[in-house]
Amino acid sequence: MAESWSEPPQSPLNSPSPAESQNVIGVFWHEGMLRHDTGSGWVFDSGEDPGFLDVLEKHPENADRVRNMVSVLKRGPISPFISWYQGRRALISELLSFHTQEYIDELVEADRNGGKIICPGTFLNPGSWDAALLAAGTTLSAMKHILDGQGKISYALVRPPGHHAQPTRADGYCFLNNAGLAIQLALRSDIKKVVVLDIDVHYGNGTAEGFYYSDRVLAISLHMNHGSWGPSHPQKGTMDELGEREGFGYNLNIPLPNGTGDRGYTYAMNVLVVPAIEKFEPEMMVLVIGQDSSACLLFWKADTAAAVERAAIFIVPSI
Ligand SMILES: [Zn+2]
Repeated sequence: MAESWSEPPQSPLNSPSPAESQNVIGVFWHEGMLRHDTGSGWVFDSGEDPGFLDVLEKHPENADRVRNMVSVLKRGPISPFISWYQGRRALISELLSFHTQEYIDELVEADRNGGKIICPGTFLNPGSWDAALLAAGTTLSAMKHILDGQGKISYALVRPPGHHAQPTRADGYCFLNNAGLAIQLALRSDIKKVVVLDIDVHYGNGTAEGFYYSDRVLAISLHMNHGSWGPSHPQKGTMDELGEREGFGYNLNIPLPNGTGDRGYTYAMNVLVVPAIEKFEPEMMVLVIGQDSSACLLFWKADTAAAVERAAIFIVPSI
């Protein structure tokens, strides 16, 4: 159990003006997450230098991506509506609500030994484990903020991302499943049912795997139809992966053709996602927001949010 929790409610680091404070998003962030250095390589996430290039490609999951999210939120048009909160490291004991002890031991040992390629493209370098603990802890703080009634919407602005991380293995640049840990925290408080909606262009296989046997979490993922991509990602993301035992029917996969745009996403939302959420009647929504599906704009029916009684919306980014 991960209830060694004694986190007091935080005061925000800034003060939105009184006129705007009614519609504030609490953003949880810690600069230490920038120290996760994924390196560069000759193509995409290879991490390899062939020796004949002047300029190597940055790894797609790099610190600048999140630096820009911070700057947009600090200086962009919605900055007046944001309260900033300091993130924190997760305790090892807190990770065991979603991950196995053996898997966490493997990561701790890899860090102690100076780093390791955990799976293709997924580099645990010096500083990476500390960043992963910060991402997990910061997400837990963002969830605690909602559970304590401190706000209606919180945003855990974290890296490394988490939605591919499964209870027993890393995958796709993800070590710890930040959203999964936060959902477990909610389920161990007075929240009975949570819907997690993942719009990242890749399948949220780690989150799905973690709740595959549960009828308390409706896991919905819209993604490209990429299928399994090797031993770290055995799940296919197909429609027939429905959950098992008590969780049967509580895993909703919506694979979409490449190039699906606004109309396709809107159709899937209105015809599949919204009715499923309304039928499930969750007390909380966790949104896993991958920027790599940003060719679409997400239109959210306002009355759906209203239909979720005591709705608390909680957001984590992914890749
Ligand atoms: Zn992705």
